[in-house]
Amino acid sequence: MLKLYNSYSNSLEEVLLSKDKVKVYLCGPTVQSSPHIGHGRSAVVFDFFIRYLKYLDFNISFVRNITDIEDKIILKSAEQNIDFKELAENVTKEFKDAYSNLNCIPPDVEPKATEYIDEILLYIQKILDEDMGYVSGSGVYFDTASYADYLKLSGRKLDEVISGTRVDIVEDKKAPEDFVLWKFAKEGEPYWESTWGKGRPGWHIECSAMINSILGNDIDFHCGGNDLIFPHHENELAQSKAAYPDNEFVKYWLHNGMINLSGKKMSKSEGNSKFLNDYIDEYGGDVMRFYFLRAQYRSPQEFSEDLLIESKTTFKKIVEFVSTVKPAPTNSELINLFKKCMDDDLNTPKFIGEVFTQINNAASLDEKMLGDLKSTLRYIFQILGFTFEETSTKRVSIDEIKIFFEGYGVSFTSVEQAMKDFLVIRETYRSNKKYEIADNMRTDALNIGIKIEDGNDNGWSWNNN
Ligand SMILES: [Zn+2]
Repeated sequence: MLKLYNSYSNSLEEVLLSKDKVKVYLCGPTVQSSPHIGHGRSAVVFDFFIRYLKYLDFNISFVRNITDIEDKIILKSAEQNIDFKELAENVTKEFKDAYSNLNCIPPDVEPKATEYIDEILLYIQKILDEDMGYVSGSGVYFDTASYADYLKLSGRKLDEVISGTRVDIVEDKKAPEDFVLWKFAKEGEPYWESTWGKGRPGWHIECSAMINSILGNDIDFHCGGNDLIFPHHENELAQSKAAYPDNEFVKYWLHNGMINLSGKKMSKSEGNSKFLNDYIDEYGGDVMRFYFLRAQYRSPQEFSEDLLIESKTTFKKIVEFVSTVKPAPTNSELINLFKKCMDDDLNTPKFIGEVFTQINNAASLDEKMLGDLKSTLRYIFQILGFTFEETSTKRVSIDEIKIFFEGYGVSFTSVEQAMKDFLVIRETYRSNKKYEIADNMRTDALNIGIKIEDGNDNGWSWNNN
């Protein structure tokens, strides 16, 4: 039975859900500057989570948003003397590259806040109709005093919240802990029209409105970094309870721990101000995934380049160990061990520890047992989203490619022609919301070296050398 730590109850809870339709929302990036290692961690640990749920046969709707309008984006684009949209698009592209190179399963929907302004306005109106918000000279605010359960998620005390609140002089709120739903535009700032005045949405309302429009009033899992618990998730919850008082909003709140930079400041002057994509370029997606796999997702994780180098060496041992076998779940004991660790709040480091004990003792196994251990390990790493791509020296033969396409009823004359037909079939599944089959088709294609991209940068590429 899968147990996960719910930040709302502060306890490990059994996941009691029907497998038909599980709704997962992960707070995505505010696209103001290049992704850093912490963004990689959040993306990868929740990718392990999603992949594990899929392995357990949960049918998932996965949404991860992009916050493409926010104070910091406006500030940074002004500094760079470019339009806020241009900055947001550039940074979004960097995030998409990172997600794809880390082999994270793309979300079924990846909404941008600026595409949901109408929904956001309706949501704010609903909060005002419930008398839980108010309009002031600088914007529309949430009236935290009207919501009795405020701070229940984060467990913070009101006086510490108040003392920690930096009151902007332009803000004219009833109470310092009230937060903005709609911020009126100052001279030169981007804006949208609203009945209250020209402005832009607050950060928290974006997620509430996007969740509501795409997934409905209630979702199963709300995920993000633990730095989002307060104020972001606390405020999302308050808004959602204001607009939809009869709904629970979220069943399980899951939060990943932060990256600890080992006291070493990553500053430009020290020449070590590397971003996530630099590390991915240097070490590859699999090694990065392996580094993240080595800490339990809720724990803080130490980071240094030495630790990446060490992860590279350690991962190479696994790659070499399984290099001669095909993935297959032939060792049921190992599969059970994997499930036991994952069911225990995704305890990936515990599993890795056990794996190395078994690898180190492999010399005592007979040939059959050794083969089973290897193929099962490869199978499990495939479930966890490892590609073994860079280390694969095997060139796929034309016969293998033909067999692959024939398996989907596609006749083969060239990769280009066959891919056209293959993608039509896959698109049909996608438009019928059969995402799991479409996902499997993408994973299958990867086995013959064809990488398929969905979303805005959709297309495919074939790497066969
Ligand atoms: Zn959010």
